[in-house]
Amino acid sequence: MGLSSLLSYTFVCDLFLPGTKIWNEQLICSIFNHDTSIAILNMHIPPTDEDYLIWKPDRRSSFTVKSAYNTLCASSVNNAIASDNIPRHVWKHLLKYKVPHKVQLFVWICLKNIVPVRAKLACYNPEVEPHCKFCNNSLETINHLLVECDYATSIWNALNVDITTDIQHYNSFQTWVASWFSAGEELHNNNRNEGYVIKLMCTIWYIWKDRCNLIFQDIPPNKNITISRIQYLTHLCNHVVIPTSVNRQCSTLNKDWIPLEEGFLKLNIDASYMSETKKGSIGLMVRDHAVGVKGFKLEEEVEADVGAEHFECKALFMAVDWMKRWL
Ligand SMILES: [Zn+2]
Repeated sequence: MGLSSLLSYTFVCDLFLPGTKIWNEQLICSIFNHDTSIAILNMHIPPTDEDYLIWKPDRRSSFTVKSAYNTLCASSVNNAIASDNIPRHVWKHLLKYKVPHKVQLFVWICLKNIVPVRAKLACYNPEVEPHCKFCNNSLETINHLLVECDYATSIWNALNVDITTDIQHYNSFQTWVASWFSAGEELHNNNRNEGYVIKLMCTIWYIWKDRCNLIFQDIPPNKNITISRIQYLTHLCNHVVIPTSVNRQCSTLNKDWIPLEEGFLKLNIDASYMSETKKGSIGLMVRDHAVGVKGFKLEEEVEADVGAEHFECKALFMAVDWMKRWL
């Protein structure tokens, strides 16, 4: 079939038998190759409905300014990602880490080199003070703030991270961060493993948080508290099941939950401990078969640096002691 003949087939309805909504099989097979013809002929055509235009980016197929705006933004973000020089596997590895989303997001903006440090902001707004608020000495670049500043250095040292040796193999802060998520980079650091990378991620996040608290809320940084927080979050990320899995487990548990038999009581206990404040809490609750709360107890106390296990054990002792009164 010549090109001039094909041009007369403009609309889908041109492929129907005249006056019907039935595919013209002979015509379709003569225009398209075998696979395409089969695909077209397998499409179901509703016999009565009218044709109408749809707006694909919207779930309900109707055009809205919001959906048009979101579509434009999504394409510009994708283009920005596609045009940078961070390898694709780096993004994939970053997303696999079980760290809080805000930490992941901060690492992402570090990789994109879009952290709003003061030296960068001052390029666009001359009223912005470009110096580091920790030391008031150097320009607040991302490299100074998270690596070179005395405050950052003291944190890295306290965490036993030899940042100077580690970063010297890379030509920029971004490539150093990218190396955390690249296979084969352990050449420069024998200690580099998932737990170590989590520690690095948590550390840059907390230094950035301290910087924001200082600038926006005038809260001076407390190095010891920050170190405790980094260690605590690193520990949590390394040992605690991620929330999505927890939720999934909870929903399964709820489905299989069976109430107590009449006459039985159930005692739930839990304990928590904050190493920064050395404060621990213990909670106990007794319920009956009708899920009525018969009693609860909450205790808080400040102890020496004894750890969470102390409070867990104490909760068990209290539970046994307290249960006697219900028996
Ligand atoms: Zn500084």
